[in-house]
Amino acid sequence: MGGGPGGLSAAIALRQNGHRVTVFDCAAPPIDKACGEGLLPESLPLLERLGIPVSGLGLRFHGIGFSSDTASLSAAFPAGAALGVRRAILHSLMVERAETLGVHLRWAVKAVHLAAEGISVNGTTEKFDLVVGADGQNSQIRKQAGLHHCREERSRFGFRKHYRIAPWSPFVEVYWGCGCQFYVTPVGPDEVCLALLSRDSSLRIDRALPQFPALQARLGGAPATSREKGALTVSRVLHQVHSDRVALLGDASGSVDAITGDGLSLAFKQSIALAGALSAGNLAAYGVAHRELNRVPRAISSLLLSLDRYPALQRRAFSSLERRPEFFNSLLGVHVGEKSFSDLLSWRLLGLCREFLCS
Ligand SMILES: Cc1cc2nc3c(=O)[nH]c(=O)nc-3n(C[C@H](O)[C@H](O)[C@H](O)COP(=O)(O)OP(=O)(O)OC[C@H]3O[C@@H](n4cnc5c(N)ncnc54)[C@H](O)[C@@H]3O)c2cc1C
Repeated sequence: MGGGPGGLSAAIALRQNGHRVTVFDCAAPPIDKACGEGLLPESLPLLERLGIPVSGLGLRFHGIGFSSDTASLSAAFPAGAALGVRRAILHSLMVERAETLGVHLRWAVKAVHLAAEGISVNGTTEKFDLVVGADGQNSQIRKQAGLHHCREERSRFGFRKHYRIAPWSPFVEVYWGCGCQFYVTPVGPDEVCLALLSRDSSLRIDRALPQFPALQARLGGAPATSREKGALTVSRVLHQVHSDRVALLGDASGSVDAITGDGLSLAFKQSIALAGALSAGNLAAYGVAHRELNRVPRAISSLLLSLDRYPALQRRAFSSLERRPEFFNSLLGVHVGEKSFSDLLSWRLLGLCREFLCS
């Protein structure tokens, strides 16, 4: 259930392992969604493993920069590049791959519910051994399967808009303001995607931009190439992501704040883990893998949300990191899965703590 990037990657991974798969979605392709459109470096080999060609697609970027009114930090990815790509383009490629593999795709299907032996479509039951709920943040399958109980849940509001302008940085730039952030992802040689994240449901891109004069000057009146699109971004941890015959995946299975840029790569990793668990006839292994896959993104998400919530903490953290750029590098390495948290627990952390307490 759900033919977004999560549902399609799961369908492809399951089909690659020989399962027969049908995807139902209430919308029809190309499905666009508010997204920052950055794929972290670890996503690219995963997409290739799923048979989705990434060469020549979108635009590569090579690191992440943070700037606020008091600090400016940046770090390159330790290895590999990330990719900025328009959502609808990625979606079309995934649909094409699923079709080639023989996944049965059913678009614009309404009134689909979980039933005892599969799912019910307009009152008629269709039998399935397993239902994968990949129907996004507001998952109905999650509720119908009784898997909606959360350990934690925090929501913010996200908006995105594209502009016709040559990207001015090889990095994704995150601009930190008061209670909100903008981030800019290069998605083509002459296009960027601007995403706004905030706790204020009424804040929109045009109203927030004047708070960020440096970004506004960079955009310099570039024409918009899309209409503003919004979505909730939710940090949610569920107690359980599967039952005997239902598995949740992607945003339906719990998610991290969009500022991490982790949602898509998590969905791809979960899809490969689910296919592996099913081939081993051990759905419980998916629950274990899911918890492990989400551990670091959740920690990074909590850290970044604390910086959003507490401006004084943010100022001190950024000023310490500015003086210890190697620690920002290491944090980015952990974020993109190329280093572990234990790599941070060294003299570097002690040095950073000293800087932090003395700043
Ligand atoms: C503002 C913003 C910026 C983001 N930036 C990034 C980023 O830069 N990088 C990144 O990796 N992630 C980012 N994310 C997160 C990313 O967009 C999600 O993690 C990703 O879309 C999850 O994919 P999904 O397939 O699980 O869910 P979705 O993309 O939401 O897809 C769910 C699908 O289910 C279908 N559906 C829903 N309900 C039903 C129903 N009842 N019946 C049938 N079908 C249904 C929908 O039509 C949709 O096609 C961002 C999110 C936001 C909000």
